[in-house]
Amino acid sequence: MAENTVTTKLDDRYWSLFEHSADAMLLIDGDKFVDFNQATLAMLGYASREELFSTHPSQLSPETQPDGRPSFDKANEMIGVAIETGSNRFIWIHTRKNGEDFPVEVLLTAVPFEDRKLVHVVWRDITERVRIEKENKAHRDRLQELVNERTAELEKALEEATLLGEAVNQSGTSVIITDANGKIEFVNRAFSDINGYSREEALGQTPKILNSGFHDDDFFHEMWKTISSGEVWNRSIRNRRKNGETYWARSRIAPIRDKSGEISKFVGVETDISELVEQKEQAEKANLAKSEFLSSMSHELRTPLNAILGFSQLLQLGTETPLTDRQFSYVDQVIKGGQHLLSLIDEVLDLAKIESGKVSLSLEVVGLKDLLDECVNLTGTLAKSKRIKIEQPSSRELPKIWADHLRAKQTLLNLLSNAAKYNVDKGQIQIQVEVRKNNLVRISVTDTGRGIPENKQNEIFQPFNRLGAETSEIEGTGIGLVLTKKLMEEMQGSIGFSSEEGKGSTFWLDFPAADWANKAGASKEKQETANLQVTEAEKLLLYVEDNPANLTLMESIVEDIPNLTLLSTHTAELGLALAEERIPDLIILDVNLPGMDGCEAARLLKSRKATKGIPVLALSADAMPRSIERGLEAGFKEYLTKPIDLPKLIAAIREALKA
Ligand code: ADP
Repeated sequence: MAENTVTTKLDDRYWSLFEHSADAMLLIDGDKFVDFNQATLAMLGYASREELFSTHPSQLSPETQPDGRPSFDKANEMIGVAIETGSNRFIWIHTRKNGEDFPVEVLLTAVPFEDRKLVHVVWRDITERVRIEKENKAHRDRLQELVNERTAELEKALEEATLLGEAVNQSGTSVIITDANGKIEFVNRAFSDINGYSREEALGQTPKILNSGFHDDDFFHEMWKTISSGEVWNRSIRNRRKNGETYWARSRIAPIRDKSGEISKFVGVETDISELVEQKEQAEKANLAKSEFLSSMSHELRTPLNAILGFSQLLQLGTETPLTDRQFSYVDQVIKGGQHLLSLIDEVLDLAKIESGKVSLSLEVVGLKDLLDECVNLTGTLAKSKRIKIEQPSSRELPKIWADHLRAKQTLLNLLSNAAKYNVDKGQIQIQVEVRKNNLVRISVTDTGRGIPENKQNEIFQPFNRLGAETSEIEGTGIGLVLTKKLMEEMQGSIGFSSEEGKGSTFWLDFPAADWANKAGASKEKQETANLQVTEAEKLLLYVEDNPANLTLMESIVEDIPNLTLLSTHTAELGLALAEERIPDLIILDVNLPGMDGCEAARLLKSRKATKGIPVLALSADAMPRSIERGLEAGFKEYLTKPIDLPKLIAAIREALKA
């Protein structure tokens, strides 16, 4: 066994300090370990000192140190430094007896001994410290990684936000962001372009700078109420630019909520729609011009029709010489033809009215027997010319419908005339009536005509679309079915069809069924036709009319009315003078007169003391709802339209004279 000459020379006290130190302590003489304390043995896992005596440090170490240098060389260098400088502190990897490497903090101190220098060695096992450091490092690395990830995300978000900001700025739509109180925090370039306020001028202000004064307070209250309750406000608004000009914008203001759900901002997006509004105004003007054209056209056509229908009705009354049955039926044809022509004019007018949403209906109980008879008769000539047979259900079991009589007739007539027009020679038309569920009555018209190709069926209710019939010799306008559909909808009914090309079509109308109990009416009117008694006492009627035929017609009518005398003239100015002079019991004015018109005359009559109390009726060919409204405002007691409906005229005269 090797003897340790150094430690044997130590005093017992120092030896004991060495031996029992908690740190591992060793002694190097030259380049070999010559002594070890208990802690060293325990650290390395050796049982006796002898096993370690005279080992070089590299023998208790792995081949190389973490920096890659051989342990042997590096250990010698470390010892050399310690001897030269007095001490050396460094980290080293040692190896336990069981082969496990572990980190040690080494402190070498040079100790003079006799004629040479020994090196006192202290080892501190730093396995735990290294482990914690490693863990800390891993933790730091993970944190760094998270920071990197987050930074990348932020950079991406920033990039997106920059792009978005740029898009908002470049957009032609004005964008404005305010805080919850409406103070402007952001405006984009388009805002400045449209409104003339620079960004600096706008920031800190409120959108009130755009207020044009066009809208009332309620408008803005409603806006605030909507957005402050978290809803989106979307309306057209008239704004004012910085230079005072006003313009229309489509505005959409939406609240933005913060994380807690509170409204923290508002974002407003606006598009200048001045051009659209202008176009709309122009379109409305054009539409008005169209209505006026239609109104005057219908006036031109109604005036001659008035003579045709009026005189025919007088002939039928037969107050002078009763007509023979044959003559009566001829006159009947004239009246029916005239009425059909009238309904054609109405159709054109209707389209205008429907387009402006002004159809007025008078819904009543309508018996299908009369309705079908009337329509079949009116289609008769057309059907006969093509030798088409019309089959109609027997009248006994026919229900009643709830409809506007004239409009119901118009819709059914349209289906029947189509069924005849688009039928083959010697074809058939079958009318069927069926009471359906939901209290509906269906009138269907089936023909054996050309049918409608499947690929065209979805275009059938488009205005002016004739589905190719425009190239045939069959006359039409392509508005009949559009009108029919609209009218059916107005009467709470509907229209439908099925068709097979080459075989034929069935078109049907579904009307609301009428209560059987509601069946007064129709026959009563007929009795009144013959009753021309309007007054017991002698009365004077003043009629102002510039059209000679109409004047003659009225003269003929009044001739047949007992106790009524007619006084007439052809201008409103003369009419006013006559009225003041003769104080008639009733005045009937044509509206469209040369010089002063009927409405103006009515207004003057109502404003003068002498004539104030005289009832004034209008009798005009202008049947536009607007004109009727205007007439009633001017003071007419009633506004009758031409062609004259005799029973209606008599009733109106009777009513006016009663008052
Ligand atoms: P019009 O008959 O004046 O052309 P409508 O609106 O009544 O206009 O009909 C539109 C189109 O639908 C017609 O042009 C025709 O092509 C087609 N059509 C309507 N009814 C029938 C039918 N019974 N059979 C075949 N085609 C029809």
